[in-house]
Amino acid sequence: MAKDKQIIKRTKLEIAKSPEGLEGPGFFATKLEDVIGLARANSLWPLPFATSCCGIEFMATMASDYDLARFGSERLSFSPRQADMLMVMGTIAKKMGPILRQVYEQMAEPKWVLSVGACASSGGIFDTYSVLQGIDRIIPVDVYVPGCPPRPEQILEGVMKIQELAKNESLRRRNSDEYKKLLNSYGIE
Ligand code: SF4
Repeated sequence: MAKDKQIIKRTKLEIAKSPEGLEGPGFFATKLEDVIGLARANSLWPLPFATSCCGIEFMATMASDYDLARFGSERLSFSPRQADMLMVMGTIAKKMGPILRQVYEQMAEPKWVLSVGACASSGGIFDTYSVLQGIDRIIPVDVYVPGCPPRPEQILEGVMKIQELAKNESLRRRNSDEYKKLLNSYGIE
């Protein structure tokens, strides 16, 4: 019974706050950018690129105790074209690098990348000839989650950080010179 109460307390739902705006009796006005940001942030579709143990933590994050669905992200996509949050979890061998990059390139804009765990972020303990020493050598990363493995709470925090980025991103960012320069630095057109 006590455990049930604990779970109910932990899974208490919060309603997404409306963006800043002008309001009065019967009306509410805000910026289009803020509404789109709110919608994007609360409906991120993850593409789980899970290769090893960190992927198991992700499974726990999806399960009922941690319940990623609370953040609008229960709809996993294994098709890059229907995903906007690439979650890379696990050791990425150098041979896998081109595949990961292809998946990233196939995702439509706007897209965000979450690097989960030490291996994806830096190669982790595998400082060897065959392991990529961080996925940011081949694709841009938005948020890094530390840990070996990170706990589901940490993965959730990483997702929440991506939500913040999505919510506050300018609609023009993806067409900006700065963003094009970032992609060009990775050899992506
Ligand atoms: S960071 Fe640790 S737990 Fe995650 S994939 Fe690497 S070795 Fe496994």
